[in-house]
Amino acid sequence: MRFQLRKCLKCNHYSLKEKCPLCNEETISAHPAKFSPDDKYMRYRLAERYN
Ligand SMILES: [Zn+2]
Repeated sequence: MRFQLRKCLKCNHYSLKEKCPLCNEETISAHPAKFSPDDKYMRYRLAERYN
């Protein structure tokens, strides 16, 4: 299953929503190519949480 992981540029919060739940700014798609190894694990944790 593939998740659309997004990131808020304002507060750096990762979300699956189109708007940041913290500051209500629009989020942008976080492309896997840009991810550091740490981010990869964060992605799995997010996937778990929202599954
Ligand atoms: Zn935000």
